[in-house]
Amino acid sequence: HDEEAAAKAAAVNADNGAPTIFDKIIAKEIPSTIVYEDDKVLAFKDISPQAPVHVLVIPKFRDGLTQLGKAEQRHGEILGQLLYAARIVAEKEGILDGFRVVINNGPSACQSVYHLHLHVLGGRQMKWPPG
Ligand code: AMP
Repeated sequence: HDEEAAAKAAAVNADNGAPTIFDKIIAKEIPSTIVYEDDKVLAFKDISPQAPVHVLVIPKFRDGLTQLGKAEQRHGEILGQLLYAARIVAEKEGILDGFRVVINNGPSACQSVYHLHLHVLGGRQMKWPPG
């Protein structure tokens, strides 16, 4: 019933360190529309866009970064690379004049995939505060 379904959904979306769908996207086992790629970072279009431009920027090697809350000092370099890649994506997508970068961290922020990712959003007037 409802409680069981809710528990199952929570388990599926828990930070349990299991591989995620993004591993398959990195391995190109499932298709994605790649916007930017280098040896450390992959950026691809979100399958359920919340703005005219909605791109996800992820590290190719998760290295414990299931969520930003798991970041450690040693992740500083990749964290910087992800943020810089967001800027490259914004330029490629023509939204450098106005864009938003979002990281949903954990259940109360509605994180659904436990492989760190930056959402790059733009192409429309963004509102504040976000929902
Ligand atoms: P979050 O809810 O912050 O964890 O964001 C996960 C994002 O991944 C959501 O915006 C989903 O639409 C997106 N997503 C899930 N599966 C795919 C996929 N196969 N290709 C592209 N984006 C995806």
